[in-house]
Amino acid sequence: MKRKCLMILCALSLLLLAGPMVYAEEAPDSGLVLVGLAYGDDALDGANLANSAGTGFRFGYLDEERSFWQMAYTAETAISVVKTQNVWYGIDPNYSSSLKSYSDGIVSDLAVGCWHIQLPTETELTSFEEALTLAQSVAGFPAWINGVWQARSGAYITREEAQIAADAVGGTVVGTSAYGVSVVKTGTAEILFQLDGGEGLSLTVYPGLDDSVKPETHYRGKRYYGMFQFRRNNGGDLTVINAVNMDDYVSCLLSQEMSSSWPMEALKAQAVCARNYVENETRHKNAGFDVCEKVHCQAYPGVGGSNERTAQAAAETAGLRAWYEGEPAKTYYYASNGGGSEDVKNVWGSSYPYLCGVSDPYEETISEKISYWGHTQTFTGAELNAKVQPYIQSKGYNCAAIVDFKITELTPTGNVKSILFTDTNGKEWPFTQKGATDLRGVLGLKSIRYTITKSGETTGGSYYVEGGNTLPSMNQVYAINGDGSVKKLTGNPYVITGSGTQFLPAPAGGTETGEVIYTIQSFGWGHSVGMSQWGAYAMAQQGKTFDEILKFYYPGIEIY
Ligand SMILES: [Zn+2]
Repeated sequence: MKRKCLMILCALSLLLLAGPMVYAEEAPDSGLVLVGLAYGDDALDGANLANSAGTGFRFGYLDEERSFWQMAYTAETAISVVKTQNVWYGIDPNYSSSLKSYSDGIVSDLAVGCWHIQLPTETELTSFEEALTLAQSVAGFPAWINGVWQARSGAYITREEAQIAADAVGGTVVGTSAYGVSVVKTGTAEILFQLDGGEGLSLTVYPGLDDSVKPETHYRGKRYYGMFQFRRNNGGDLTVINAVNMDDYVSCLLSQEMSSSWPMEALKAQAVCARNYVENETRHKNAGFDVCEKVHCQAYPGVGGSNERTAQAAAETAGLRAWYEGEPAKTYYYASNGGGSEDVKNVWGSSYPYLCGVSDPYEETISEKISYWGHTQTFTGAELNAKVQPYIQSKGYNCAAIVDFKITELTPTGNVKSILFTDTNGKEWPFTQKGATDLRGVLGLKSIRYTITKSGETTGGSYYVEGGNTLPSMNQVYAINGDGSVKKLTGNPYVITGSGTQFLPAPAGGTETGEVIYTIQSFGWGHSVGMSQWGAYAMAQQGKTFDEILKFYYPGIEIY
């Protein structure tokens, strides 16, 4: 009901802005996500769209409620939106603002120029149809310029050229503001529609003229559901945005975040997380969209990422999000925690009651499937020092070479909370909570759940075996018999070198000549804050529902 009132208010204010020729399309049910496809350095001079499912295109704009308001349409099935500066259609085939950018020597002389002839009218044109009829009489195009319909023709590169043509037909030479866009028939300079509503109004293309067909559109080698918005941020190149129904967006990206063959309830838990992600993301706000298509936000491959199972997961959780005390929850997730998730304050320093860390009995039940479960990494003392000493020094501390490394405290869920390094001067360098988890990156560890075993202690000196190689002690020395059997050495073994020399090895009295080896065995993969994807897999396999999974990993949240 509230939405209906807003719609009417919007309609009234837009009538004042635009005159009576603009009308509204039904707003999509579950809200639109604005996904940035081309922006920043990747913003375009011109963008090609072609129908994949559905035919034709409608043109209009989205209001603040993200409802689409239609202004114009075409039955063409391949269109290009270009900024209203001079652009050339190249052999790429794309539109470029510079002829010279086609460096292979073959250039197109097909230009969409930025100067046009505006036809005189006896009375104001009141609709797209009126403007179209008049424009067609001179092979021109309808244009919507700051709320007024115009009939225009031509696309000249210079004002002078346009003036000569205008004089011949009795029209006026016009351009647009830096926020204008023209829609052309792809591969031609034939303008189908031009829109210039200033900075506040961006062209939105709604593919398909028949509402009974769910539209799919080709753009840059992929297919997309939904609409396309073209923004000229600060009057620059075109920022291309896919305005897509939230549940279609979720269906398209689920297979990127989790294999679509996973249990349905795990996919549904992930679908809710994807919606919350959009709710919380703000980094692209100034560019005019919610999320980008890259891993930076959530990798979004368009229709190609969607299949029956992801569509089912999206549909069965349609519109659902996770909330904590009325705020959208920050539903962080990762592959695996190795047995316990972690309180966010120990990982990133922030604090949320529902990101508190839970002991996780589920992953272990499917541990054979989980990558990096019981993963071993080794560092020699020198390798460890090469990573840690510069790191401590980069923080402004005068730290000598690191000679010892141990875990001094675990969190309640069993992850590493505190680490202590010792340098050659005996000085201790403690790292705790966020400091300790930051070392995951410094050392390249897979998770914050691990043990450290130090071998090669040299307290008793080392045994020289040959040519300077050493054994730290005789404890780990084995003999292999001719039949392949292995036996640990005991007593006072002798060493026989390759040249037959026989001697009784003895520790090289107390000097530190042995090579220290740190063996780190880790469990899990990722930051361990929030939901474990493999844990969700295991819980779903045990019959838990998606909301049970989410409430286990984010205690205290509500789903609605
Ligand atoms: Zn992003």
